[in-house]
Amino acid sequence: MKNENWKWKTIIEPFKIKMVEPLGFTTREEREKILENAYYNMFNIKAEKVLIDLLTDSGTGAMSANQWAGIMVGDESYAGARSFFHFEATIKELTGLDEVIPVHQGRAAEKILFTALNGKGKYVISNSHFDTTKANVEVSGAIAVDFPIKEASEFEKYHPFKGNADVEKMEKFIKEKGKENILLCVMTVTNNSWGGQPVSMENLKSVYELCSKYQIPVFIDCARFAENAYFIKLREKGYDKMPVKEIAEEMFEYSDGAMMSSKKDAMVNIGGFLAMNDRKLAQKCRQLLILTEGFATYGGLAGRDLEAIAIGLKEVLDENYLQYRLRSAEYLGEGLKKHNIPILNPTGGHGVYVNAKKFFPHIKPQNFPAQALCCALYLEGGIRTVEIGTLMFGKRDEKGNFIAAPMELVRLAMPRRVYTQSHIDYVIEVFAHLAKNKNKIKGLEVVEISEVLPHFTAKLKPIK
Ligand SMILES: *Cc1c(COP(=O)(O)O)cnc(C)c1O
Repeated sequence: MKNENWKWKTIIEPFKIKMVEPLGFTTREEREKILENAYYNMFNIKAEKVLIDLLTDSGTGAMSANQWAGIMVGDESYAGARSFFHFEATIKELTGLDEVIPVHQGRAAEKILFTALNGKGKYVISNSHFDTTKANVEVSGAIAVDFPIKEASEFEKYHPFKGNADVEKMEKFIKEKGKENILLCVMTVTNNSWGGQPVSMENLKSVYELCSKYQIPVFIDCARFAENAYFIKLREKGYDKMPVKEIAEEMFEYSDGAMMSSKKDAMVNIGGFLAMNDRKLAQKCRQLLILTEGFATYGGLAGRDLEAIAIGLKEVLDENYLQYRLRSAEYLGEGLKKHNIPILNPTGGHGVYVNAKKFFPHIKPQNFPAQALCCALYLEGGIRTVEIGTLMFGKRDEKGNFIAAPMELVRLAMPRRVYTQSHIDYVIEVFAHLAKNKNKIKGLEVVEISEVLPHFTAKLKPIK
């Protein structure tokens, strides 16, 4: 990490531990049985049988003592709770957006926004839609189109801002389809679908200027806004001395609205929000909110949740925390590279993505190389990860045979403030062991699989 403040090799976790939870130790023999009973699907494994859980960084973080204190003083009044005004003021100050609507998680914000926009047959353009965002765009009858830069799919190559949108392609598309047919632009920071890669300030600005020219509103999907802001500080010219809070505030200047899953950078286990300047649109959203989430001052959350989110949104901008956060992912990536494990370069904000296609050249895509790696990591080390490959994105022909996905990745997502450097060292050690024995690892085949979101429920077994 190009940060002159970083003098020491050791990651100093910027917290001391006040409350602990035991890890799920198991023997290899037990894990063999557990995997078999789970049909080699990570989602079927009981969390207490997992030693290091890197399945997701969503809602899995640890709250601070201050947040827990906020939980105790949360105001549970139905309407006009004090905790709502704390929540609202914090988000207004951060985003500069006037209308703040609480929701129970990110996808509720998406559902409400796209229902309110009612853009049947119109296009939503983005650097990359997150999968639930895409699904909600499509359920509303609109069409989601992604414009990642070409470097996003060049896994080995370094690029400081692989999350950027391809502005030229976006403009060409707008001209081709006509600006009246573009409903909205969504900028996802960081770009989750392509490895937690950041978007530069310059790119956010260019996209906003482009969209303003054609009167297209821009919303930021800001689940990981703080990680993105810290990447800007480290990598973009002119920002190295700016406090990360100001960088984050500037990011939101290039938007007309924002939606957030608070399960990420708000450092809580549940929650989200929708924010915008358009009062009429906000009114429509609040009507939908009352139908499905709750009254405008709690939106499906308890008062204590609103309180914890307000505190978390400030804590996440602590630069000691962000340095630890980004450095932890980078440290894991460096450790894996030492053992010739092919990873997506550079490491993202919330984790590391391993290229299983390259790691297991002997396993064919229809035998799910990335899922085979997930299983091997669990079997050898009790580590849980997630497949982003043919099991998740593969299509099938008439005979039911899998057509390979473009990539076979394993995501190691890091929960916030949960694991320490020794946990990461352990993960690297397990990988080193796998690297030595990788030829012994075989692929998987399908026992049973569904059409919708197959990876959650698929049943698999090892090939003979
Ligand atoms: C997690 C996530 C969402 C969806 O949020 P949920 O809280 O899981 O519903 C949307 N966008 C991005 C970028 C996310 O990471």
